[in-house]
Amino acid sequence: MKLQVLKFNPADDPASYYVSGEVEYREQMTAMEALVEFHEQIEPVNFDFSCACRLCGRCAMMLDGIPVLACVTPITDGSHTFEPLQGYPVIRDLIVDKAELDARLSLAYDRVRIEDFSRQTVVPPDFDSATKELIYHAEFCCRCGVCDAACPTVATNPDSYVGPATMTAMAYRFMDHLDQGDRVMEAVSDGMYHCIMCGKCDEVCPQQDIGHLGMWKMLRDAAEKRGIVPGYAQ
Ligand code: SF4
Ligand code: SF4
Repeated sequence: MKLQVLKFNPADDPASYYVSGEVEYREQMTAMEALVEFHEQIEPVNFDFSCACRLCGRCAMMLDGIPVLACVTPITDGSHTFEPLQGYPVIRDLIVDKAELDARLSLAYDRVRIEDFSRQTVVPPDFDSATKELIYHAEFCCRCGVCDAACPTVATNPDSYVGPATMTAMAYRFMDHLDQGDRVMEAVSDGMYHCIMCGKCDEVCPQQDIGHLGMWKMLRDAAEKRGIVPGYAQ
C-alpha cells in the first residue's frame, strides 16, 4: 500500500511537504494502523490519539480528502493520502489545534440553570420514540470535529454558522429536560438557518447513528413554532 503523509513543522520550515512510502497492507486494517506502520517504518509522524475506539475523538484527520476518525476507518490496499483535519490551525504534521471548538462545545454542553429545582420536582416530558432515539444517539458524540470539517457552510461561510458539532451540543441540551437555556434562540443566533441540510455531517460522523438532520429539523420546527425564523431564511 502506498501512503503519502503531509508533514509540517513550523519550527524548522514554514512550508508543509509530503513524505511517501510503502507499507504492507493487512486484511481489515484501519487508517490508524496504516499510519502507525508508516510512522514506525518510513518516517516519524506526529498525530494524536488516545482510546483507538471512537471515544476520545482525537485521531480526526483527512484521508484522501475526506474527514475521518482514523481509529475506526477501514483502509483499502492502494494509494492513500493523510492530511491534517481541514479547517483547523495545524500544530505539527497531523495534529491540529481544536481549542476554539473545545471552548465552544464546553459552553454549549454546559447545562444552564436559571431557577433552582431538584430532580424530584421536575417531571421528565413524555418524549416520543423518535426524540428518544435522537437523545440516545446524541450522547455518543465524541466531539471529534469531523462533521465541522465536512460542512460546506463552515467551509464557505464560517462567520455565519457555528457548525454541526456545536449544533449537536445545542440540540442535545434542547432535549434535556433539566436544562433551562433557550437552545432554540441560541441555535438561530448561531446560524442554524445557514445550514443547507445537505447531510454531509451525517455521512462522515464516526458515531453513525447520530441523527443530525433529525435534530436540525427538530430545532427548526421549534423555531418556526415560536416565529423566530430569521429574515434571510424566509
Ligand atoms: S457529531 Fe459526529 S462528527 Fe460531529 S463531533 Fe460529534 S461525533 Fe464527531
Ligand atoms: S447538513 Fe448542515 S450542518 Fe450538516 S454538513 Fe450540511 S450544511 Fe453542514
